[in-house]
Amino acid sequence: MSYDTNNIFARILRGEIPAKKIYEDDWAFAFHDIHPQAPVHALVIPKGPYTCWRDFAERGSDAEVAGFFRAVQTVAKTLGVSETGYRTIANAGPDSMQEVPHFHVHILAGARLGTKIVTPLAD
Ligand code: AMP
Repeated sequence: MSYDTNNIFARILRGEIPAKKIYEDDWAFAFHDIHPQAPVHALVIPKGPYTCWRDFAERGSDAEVAGFFRAVQTVAKTLGVSETGYRTIANAGPDSMQEVPHFHVHILAGARLGTKIVTPLAD
């Protein structure tokens, strides 16, 4: 999948669409999810044009990957959930049902989160 420069998160990065910003540095931008699935639900996105986990892992520079993953933890600290705990979710490929084609990590927290598998396996 080639990168769509008009995807909604690219537009948020360019400031064309508003977002409830939590954190920003050279590598990452973080904001609150518009449809929270937990008391705390943040999204962390890299600044570069990567479609998904696979694309970021394969094409991102070491500096981008390290900077981004450190930023995820910084966002958790900023949200006050670093010690109480949080879950990260990120997607790659069609089976993951990724909706927005700009790589992002979800941070879910603020309550006991239950099971890891959201959709049961089909028979
Ligand atoms: P995914 O299924 O992993 O691609 O998740 C995309 C997430 O982006 C969903 O949780 C949406 O609620 C969230 N989302 C979509 N548009 C916006 C937006 N404009 N601002 C904040 N979150 C958004």
